[in-house]
Amino acid sequence: MLKVYNSLTKTLEEFNPMVEGKVSMYTCGPTVYSYPTIGNWRTYIFSDVVNRSLRYLGYDVSFVMNLTDVGHLTGDNLGDSSSGEDRLEKAAKREKKSAWDIAKFYSDDFVNGVNRLNILNPIIFCKATEHIQEQIDLVKKIEERGFTYSTTDGIYFDVKKYESNGNTYGELSNLDQILEGARVEINPEKKDPRDFALWKFSPRDSKRDMEWDSPWGMGFPGWHIECSAMGMKYLGEQIDLHLGGEDLRSTHHPNEIAQSEAATDKKPFVKYWMHGAFLQVDGGRMGKSLGNAYTLSDIDEKGINLIALRYFYFSSHYRSKLNFTWDALKSSETTLNKLINTVKRLSSEVETLHNIDLNINLDYQTKFIQYLENDFDMPKVLSLMWELIKSDLSSSTKLATLLDFDRVLGFNLTNVLDQPSSIDISDEVKTLLLERDVARKKKDFNESDRIRDILFNEYHIKVYDTDKGQEIEEV
Ligand code: AMP
Ligand code: ZN
Repeated sequence: MLKVYNSLTKTLEEFNPMVEGKVSMYTCGPTVYSYPTIGNWRTYIFSDVVNRSLRYLGYDVSFVMNLTDVGHLTGDNLGDSSSGEDRLEKAAKREKKSAWDIAKFYSDDFVNGVNRLNILNPIIFCKATEHIQEQIDLVKKIEERGFTYSTTDGIYFDVKKYESNGNTYGELSNLDQILEGARVEINPEKKDPRDFALWKFSPRDSKRDMEWDSPWGMGFPGWHIECSAMGMKYLGEQIDLHLGGEDLRSTHHPNEIAQSEAATDKKPFVKYWMHGAFLQVDGGRMGKSLGNAYTLSDIDEKGINLIALRYFYFSSHYRSKLNFTWDALKSSETTLNKLINTVKRLSSEVETLHNIDLNINLDYQTKFIQYLENDFDMPKVLSLMWELIKSDLSSSTKLATLLDFDRVLGFNLTNVLDQPSSIDISDEVKTLLLERDVARKKKDFNESDRIRDILFNEYHIKVYDTDKGQEIEEV
């Protein structure tokens, strides 16, 4: 039984999605005004592990990630959307481009990073700028229900009104975090420091690169509303799983809950909230001003394989601190290389890939599943993997089991396999064969027959079950 730590209840809970076997999952994506840091990537790889694990465990996952491509003021992070600078417009000035060009450039860069880090793509990377109408419609709904008020600079969500309606605000955060947010308050027109902008007006004296007409006048959506609007559009008014970094617990996620549940008459917006701990660098905070907000290109420049970053992140549980040093990353790369060489050696020892003796070892697989099911314990998974490699199991069993684990680890181990077979087996076919083997071991013959049919109809490969395992033939 899968157990996840739910930030809402602050306990480890059994995971039961709303519809059996199906999971709707939303991860807050980046604000696309600069290159993501290795801190940001820790959160996205945590999200990838959750997504891959759920798939591995047999769930049908609908995964959505947004791209925040509307400029918001830096104060928004702390609950004050009227202070600070607009990140996108600031970047546009710095790079002498328009905010639109900045958003396009860094969105493309982000998606490229996702692919290079072997993070599974969502069904959609939804962009805030492409969902302005949905955001306006949601604000209208909240307004109709009486939870908004207007100031000279925007339409605000009324937290006290929400509370007087029998709701609790800020269940995800602790009181210190809320007070911290309240301290930065500088907008005297707000009724309560916790109130936040749903729609901001454009300044009267200047034109913004990004602005839209609305029932309330020219302006742009507040930051928080996009996740509710797009989450609801693609996944429905109630979502199983919502993820992000731990900083989002104090303001962004409580605001998402408040505005969504105000709009839907208290339908719980999200069943399980999960938050990843921050990455530190050299034992302290990571920050642009500190010069240690490293990006993927810093890793490229040092000639380190990016996949080593995955390995490095897995050395700590996602809710535990992790400290980045270049030495730690290099040692992760060394260990990853050892793993890759092991896979190469094992595959050369396996006689023919033709009859890849797909004997996944069930004892190891069971332990693997237990670790995943215990709130995604990747450090335990890594040690299990080395225990398997050192065991006295046959090379083909080790290989098959490692490739099976790699469906979650995402080290791309199938890419390093030698392919001595006369049939050129693609990665998809290898994965399907593995999945079929797992299904057969679980005696799920409907599933194994379904995969056999896919192999036959889509890949023209016929599968035979022999004493040695699955054998394949091209037809
Ligand atoms: P942002 O683009 O600032 O909205 O951040 C994108 C994601 O990265 C959010 O989920 C943040 O919580 C997360 N994040 C930011 N800094 C770090 C860090 N140092 N370690 C881990 N995650 C981070
Ligand atoms: Zn969000």
